Amino acid sequence: MLRNLIIIAAVIIVFMILRKRFSTSGNTGKTNPVSNSTHMVQCQSCDTYVPETEAVREGKHFFCCQQHLRDWSDRTE
Ligand SMILES: [Zn+2]
Repeated sequence: MLRNLIIIAAVIIVFMILRKRFSTSGNTGKTNPVSNSTHMVQCQSCDTYVPETEAVREGKHFFCCQQHLRDWSDRTE
């Protein structure tokens, strides 16, 4: 009976250690991609906010699509 309790206690301790390890590595893995993907930039042509990864970049300016980049450069020339 006492042996069974020791085995059960050992299994619980090992399980808790593994769970702690997985949860901490999971948190650090989650925070970085979220903060990168949610960075929004504003289109200079139509003022729409788009994710920086999907935006068309021209120097310091961002655009939601190639067409708005062309529209904006036509207007500023
Ligand atoms: Zn636009």
